[in-house]
Amino acid sequence: MKLVKLIANLGYGSRKEVTLMFREGRITDPDGEVLYADDKVPHEHIRIDDEPLDPPAGMVLVMNKPLGATCSRKDIGRVVYDLLPPRYRVRDPALSTVGRLDRDTSGLLLFTDDGALLHRIISPKARVAKVYEATLANDLRGDEGALFASGTMMLESETDPLEPVVLDVLEPRRARVTLTEGRYHQVRRMFAAVGNHVESLSRISVGALTLDNLQPGEWRALEEHEIARIF
Ligand code: URA
Repeated sequence: MKLVKLIANLGYGSRKEVTLMFREGRITDPDGEVLYADDKVPHEHIRIDDEPLDPPAGMVLVMNKPLGATCSRKDIGRVVYDLLPPRYRVRDPALSTVGRLDRDTSGLLLFTDDGALLHRIISPKARVAKVYEATLANDLRGDEGALFASGTMMLESETDPLEPVVLDVLEPRRARVTLTEGRYHQVRRMFAAVGNHVESLSRISVGALTLDNLQPGEWRALEEHEIARIF
């Protein structure tokens, strides 16, 4: 792909604006040598205003989603896309969240511009484990684990039973829940179905991928070997 199109697709500007950036000498190699629009240069050797170019298409980001931000694209209140550079909203192919976390759920949220990868992660068939920690309003009764694991649990207004879910009790009012699907408000609705109430919820891992030391609101691009850890 021609450099102007490649850089424009990453959201740095229109093709006209990127052409101007070349003319202004803002696009260089790592040694500061000015690049020209017709140059053939590996992606990782391109810098704009002395900053490395954003990752190419096929990018996966991990964010520690803060409470209060929604996964919507629409600007109703604070949205997770606001935590990324504005150009990430206009990349082509478009970047989206991999599934959604509720506004009141924090923790590990993935983004990608790779539609096939996105579907692979969220598909119940892929059985990617999503692990949540929940703080509850009431003590656990003791029978929830068996019901969650049964593969027969029904949520209100749904026609199919839930895939088996693993419940690990951490404290009388704190539990770890491992899902392989992602139905709407699933964890909150499961606890509501057993007469409890989720007071706080955080996703701590997807597959073998964890947040490590990302603080709420922080994010980073995943390396190839980290993407493999999802499956
Ligand atoms: N289950 C929920 O109830 N909410 C989430 O955000 C994710 C899973």
